[in-house]
Amino acid sequence: MQNLKIYNTLTRQKEEFKPLSPPYVGMYVCGPTVYNYVHLGNVRTFLTFDVLFRYLTEIGYKVRYVRNITDVGHLVGDGDEGEDKIGKMAKLEKLEPMEIVQRYTNDFHKVLEQFNFLPPSIEPTATGHLVEQIEAVKTLIDKGLAYEANGSVYFDINQYNQEGNDYGKLSGRILEDLLNETRELDGQSEKRNPLDFAIWKNASPEHIMQWKSPWGMGFPGWHLECTCMSTKYLGKQFDIHGGGMDLKFPHHECEIAQGVGITGVEPVRYWMHSNMLTVNGQKMSKSLGNSFLPSELFAGSHPLLEQAYTPMTVRFFMLQSQYRSTLDFSNDALRAAQKGYRRLINGLRIVKTLTLDINDKVADKIPSELIDDTQAGNVATQTVAAPVVKVAIDEKKKLDIEKTVQAFYEAMNDDLNTAVAIAQLFNLLKYVNMIYMNQLDPRTLGEDTFNLLQEKFVVFMEQILGITEEPLTQGDGILSGMLSLYKEYKSSQRYDKVDEIRTYFKSNGMTIKDMKHRIDWAWEE
Ligand code: AMP
Ligand code: ZN
Repeated sequence: MQNLKIYNTLTRQKEEFKPLSPPYVGMYVCGPTVYNYVHLGNVRTFLTFDVLFRYLTEIGYKVRYVRNITDVGHLVGDGDEGEDKIGKMAKLEKLEPMEIVQRYTNDFHKVLEQFNFLPPSIEPTATGHLVEQIEAVKTLIDKGLAYEANGSVYFDINQYNQEGNDYGKLSGRILEDLLNETRELDGQSEKRNPLDFAIWKNASPEHIMQWKSPWGMGFPGWHLECTCMSTKYLGKQFDIHGGGMDLKFPHHECEIAQGVGITGVEPVRYWMHSNMLTVNGQKMSKSLGNSFLPSELFAGSHPLLEQAYTPMTVRFFMLQSQYRSTLDFSNDALRAAQKGYRRLINGLRIVKTLTLDINDKVADKIPSELIDDTQAGNVATQTVAAPVVKVAIDEKKKLDIEKTVQAFYEAMNDDLNTAVAIAQLFNLLKYVNMIYMNQLDPRTLGEDTFNLLQEKFVVFMEQILGITEEPLTQGDGILSGMLSLYKEYKSSQRYDKVDEIRTYFKSNGMTIKDMKHRIDWAWEE
């Protein structure tokens, strides 16, 4: 098992990752609020945890990855007042809230598939866990940590702190500063303390999403949903909780308070926060109007874009920076990423075809003193058996490859430093290309190191970073080019070539339709 270190937001330092019950790892990531299309900023955060999920699995852990769908309770403005984001959209579009939820959940799944994300182990919805949330509210009231006011229930921060806890410890917020920042005036609120947060909200008759509860008709608080869904599937204390940096406060701060309040233990051992994707230094967000939809990127249709980019180019672009640094979106950076991605993917295609077998050009270059023909068999078999060739091992290159492979793991172990890991991948790529260009005889690396290079290059790219080769978009162009060649060969009566092309189509499950009026192709039926 690798020695992974994770930056824990709670302790503000990199810590050795020690799961509660190895080899099992419980990981919860706040999912999207499905009231709109996911934008690229959201994609960056989910990508961080996709790579973590992949890496943990690759190094031998058995991960239960829970990523929820927020389908109720997230209010416009992220606070306790205002309309429900989904309810608002449903009214605007004159649709059922669940139609909104379904539409944007489908979009979310489609986008994540385009970016080659692995599905989580469990994807719970907030509306599917109302029973658990109502129970949690009751528990907090029973423990004196929450109180009811006009059909809403609030978490009592003063009481929580009086019991020896520290609301604000995750985000480093100081209660007094928070109080000064708050716009709620004393005496005008039904809350005992303006910082108290809703765990259950009373619903006015116009509020379209509401459920029966001991406190009247209402709906759950956004923060409580994640507490209930995470602990239901991962236990009252679990290993990793992730999300974007902007969720640290109040969302995750409140999750800690609720978890501690309900069970008496810290719910999460490692809190991880992914930094923001920015545009000209400003956080990409729907409300600021500077967000890109993945579909706009793939079509190149956004006014700020100079061309279209494929999902894998974007995935590669994002992984070129470590998840805790901000990443600024720009055409130049994306164009550079496109180049880098193509270089790597060419390497991936090549590396899968490399073998240790001597090929002609390499054989030409091997000095004759290295060819040992005493073992080449008797005279009768000499014509078929290749000479057994002894090749001097290039210790320097061999060691360099082994060290580079190790350096890739060290980078990933260093709080998922994908930027450095990718640099190591490029170092391995040099060897892959040298072998491909016949500038390096693979046998000089020795069989084990050659196999290591080949295996790890594929594992690093496909399994850990999730970067794969994209299907050819020019497939149709290539097919029509082949059909015009077919026509040409036919008119010049070069039937051997005509047959060759027919065979090629056949071997791909296709057939050439050679009709009087036109020549076309079809799938073979
Ligand atoms: P939401 O649907 O707004 O709850 O956001 C879903 C996830 O995307 C959360 O973890 C957010 O922190 C994250 N997120 C939102 N905007 C950005 C951004 N510009 N860069 C990175 N992550 C973001
Ligand atoms: Zn959450």
